[in-house]
Amino acid sequence: MERTCILLKPDALKRRLAGRIIARIEDKGYIIADARMLQLDEAVLREHYSHLADQSFFPDIVKYMVSGPVLAMIVEGENAVEGTRKIIGATRFEDAAAGTIRGDYAFSTRQNLIHGSDSAESAEIEIGRFFARR
Ligand code: UDP
Ligand code: MG
Repeated sequence: MERTCILLKPDALKRRLAGRIIARIEDKGYIIADARMLQLDEAVLREHYSHLADQSFFPDIVKYMVSGPVLAMIVEGENAVEGTRKIIGATRFEDAAAGTIRGDYAFSTRQNLIHGSDSAESAEIEIGRFFARR
């Protein structure tokens, strides 16, 4: 069993796609082990997206990610990190294959509905980041 950290981003909730996205994760056989609604702020996004903090578009990512609540989830299953990334689809929406969440619903590389951890190590760090604070 592996754990990953999934965030349904503000556009997923505003577009009322949360149920359909969660259904895809569950249909594939993963378990939602925990979930919480969070209002993120710039400080936590600087940690979470530290690999992008120097990019010119980082302020736009912050604006997007604080525009409403996110639904953070701990998702469990065999190879959950790689498996959920597969059903999420590519970062660039033009590259996201049909049948993936981004391929079917995203029409922007920024507003792309969902985050999934990129390694088991990042997953544990992200779970600590989003589920330790009360
Ligand atoms: N992002 C963006 N423009 C880019 C690359 C990324 O707005 O050119 C945003 C997008 O919301 C993406 C997030 O920053 O999901 C994190 O980027 P990363 O490269 O980690 O992609 P992911 O792991 O989400 O596929
Ligand atoms: Mg990433």
